[in-house]
Amino acid sequence: MDLFEYQGKQYFARFGIPVSAGDIADDVPTAVAVAERVGYPVVVKAQVQVGGRGKAGGVKLATNADEVREHAGTILGLDIKGHVVKRLWIEHASDIAKEYYASFTLDRGAKKHLGMLSAQGGVEIEQVAEENPDALARIAIDPVGGLSEDAARKWVQTARLDPEATEGAVAILLQLYSCYVDGDCDLAEINPLILTPEGKVHALDAKVTLDDNASFRHPEWEKFRGLEVLDPRDALARSKGLQYIGLDGTVGIIANGAGLAMSTCDIVNQVGGEPANFLDIGGGASADVMANALEVINTDDKVRSIFINIFGGITKGEEVANGIVQALGRVDIKSPIVIRLDGTNADEGRAILKEHESDRLISKSTMLEAAKTAVELAQ
Ligand code: GDP
Ligand code: MN
Repeated sequence: MDLFEYQGKQYFARFGIPVSAGDIADDVPTAVAVAERVGYPVVVKAQVQVGGRGKAGGVKLATNADEVREHAGTILGLDIKGHVVKRLWIEHASDIAKEYYASFTLDRGAKKHLGMLSAQGGVEIEQVAEENPDALARIAIDPVGGLSEDAARKWVQTARLDPEATEGAVAILLQLYSCYVDGDCDLAEINPLILTPEGKVHALDAKVTLDDNASFRHPEWEKFRGLEVLDPRDALARSKGLQYIGLDGTVGIIANGAGLAMSTCDIVNQVGGEPANFLDIGGGASADVMANALEVINTDDKVRSIFINIFGGITKGEEVANGIVQALGRVDIKSPIVIRLDGTNADEGRAILKEHESDRLISKSTMLEAAKTAVELAQ
């Protein structure tokens, strides 16, 4: 889940990272009220999940209420790279001596965390990496050992931050690392990380992506969800705890295991169809899970047929078949269903399905046959 800047800053603050005092505003009068409260000068900032807001006119300084009114009025409703601004973040403006860049993310290839630090912040980091790769100091961090204070200090020196920024930067890097690891982020980025004329180091922007797989241990993340822009199908699937991704085709897909679900999408494509979704129901295929999955697919008006592709591993074929039959009793399905059931006790499972076969419920013994039938039915 991607956070908005203001949410990212709230998250940073929990880990002790210094951020400016501020608040959100969804209309002009609130923006002025917040500005009066945090004290002038303030920065009026568009809250959209896209970078380069500054260049697009979405970040403006204001020294009095009139300027806040003017900027808030222009920025609200502004279209920044296809994202319309509905919310502002108003914070007390900082004096900037230097703009740096700092981030942590996962380097899957190296099986380590990757820290990136640069004395050339403020601009898009891709640009720095391309035009001046030496200006980007990277470190690989062993996830077991973590980031030590010594390593952080050496890293700051390698990145050639100004000497007066060293201690502040080391402290923030350690806090940012703890935010990234203990806070279960996929990405924690500060750009710009600033040095003030008084020698303080401070986060002026926040880009945070939370690792959704860790949401079970973060009930507090719920408060970040409200503003997410979700497809209604995705929203329903999420509320039912399903791994669902909406696509644009006409063949609804239910499979167990992400790998099989992807293969199912592929094979539907191969035989000339278009998947309406990716849906992985996970290990089991209980009646509950199956009914939920069918319900989500049923809300998709584009769906013309449903392809259920299950390979029984630990879950036995007859349990899967019973789950499907019971689910069909609970949900009134609009489209014909094609099932391929294989794996442990497939014969027992198929025998159960056979008793319920009709032109609305067709069982096929191979994935390819089932895909062809589902695609034909969708045409
Ligand atoms: P982005 O363009 O979407 O990355 O938005 P940022 O939050 O990074 O802001 C863009 C730029 O606006 C920063 O690089 C700063 O140069 C400037 N800026 C943001 N906040 C302040 C502030 O408090 N004071 C000053 N002087 N400039 C700021
Ligand atoms: Mn930025």
